Amino acid sequence: MPVNRGKPRIIGFLRMERLYPEGSMLPFKLVYSDDYYLPIGAHVFPAEKYRRIHDRLIGSGVAEHSDFISPHPASDEDVLLVHTPQYVHKLKTGTLTAREELEMEIPYSPELVRSFWLAAGGSILAANHALKDGVAFNIGGGFHHAFPDHGEGFCMIHDVAIAIRRMQCDGKIARAMTVDCDVHHGNGTAAIFAGVRIPSEPLPSRYGASATRPRPPKMRNAHAGEVFTISLHQENNYPAWKPPSSIDVDLPDEIGDDDYLGWLDNALSSGLRQFEPDLICYIAGADPYREDQLGGLSLSVEGLKKRDELVFRIAKTRGIPIMVTFAGGYARVVDDTVTIHSNTVVASKEIFAET
Ligand SMILES: [Zn+2]
Repeated sequence: MPVNRGKPRIIGFLRMERLYPEGSMLPFKLVYSDDYYLPIGAHVFPAEKYRRIHDRLIGSGVAEHSDFISPHPASDEDVLLVHTPQYVHKLKTGTLTAREELEMEIPYSPELVRSFWLAAGGSILAANHALKDGVAFNIGGGFHHAFPDHGEGFCMIHDVAIAIRRMQCDGKIARAMTVDCDVHHGNGTAAIFAGVRIPSEPLPSRYGASATRPRPPKMRNAHAGEVFTISLHQENNYPAWKPPSSIDVDLPDEIGDDDYLGWLDNALSSGLRQFEPDLICYIAGADPYREDQLGGLSLSVEGLKKRDELVFRIAKTRGIPIMVTFAGGYARVVDDTVTIHSNTVVASKEIFAET
């Protein structure tokens, strides 16, 4: 039935019009391009996951085509806000050393460079839309293992750091907080935004601690500059060297949903007591999943959705814009990785559509 948009007469209608622009399913934008595909051949990283998440969101009715917007590649100037001129030059001219390429753990090609520049542009676009709508997704990105002068762990350049620096340089934000829930420590993020660590005692968990846990998680705390970095990760996993984040939560192997959620809640509460960000950058890795090939935690699909809900609820309650990137996900069944990432969008829709 056609709706007379010119004469809204009921409050509910007005609210719907504000939340859902004409032709859109979602009250926020999803930044995506088919060119996010990483041309890396047969690899544990499921390079087709971005397209499959896009297709799942549309196929399941969570989103419509009009909810998606296309990014432009980051400019070299954007990338140079984080990365050294020497490293950018090597990437642009294909002159990485064999050792540098090995450390990146994905095969270099000019096409790969274009994919990463595009993902960085996507994170810049998502950060901008998060400020407008309260939340926005880059259906990609989260390359948190990239350092200023080299790539590591499937990450060539650090799209989230580039987005933060771009927003700061443009005067759109002063302070940002990264909340990294990938199973792997955010070593690149920590190195780029290095603070000075100050040891602190573990905080009590609202969810209670397991009496059978062999060794409690450790929470380390630090002062931060204009970017506050939080990383929850499996301690006994890559990277071996974990430069200090503002808050690091070193989780033991096999930790499950309830304990994980308790520690996430603690870390967010502690971080937001110390620091008031203008933007949260949520790095929503799918690899804390118990069936992940590169992870050793034991979260369920449902627990990971609760994780997302917790992060979104806190951001919404405090009125802090949040942008989301997807980082890793190496489930034995790729469809599980697609489900976990898609659920992050579903969780956001549920939380941000609530009045
Ligand atoms: Zn990871």
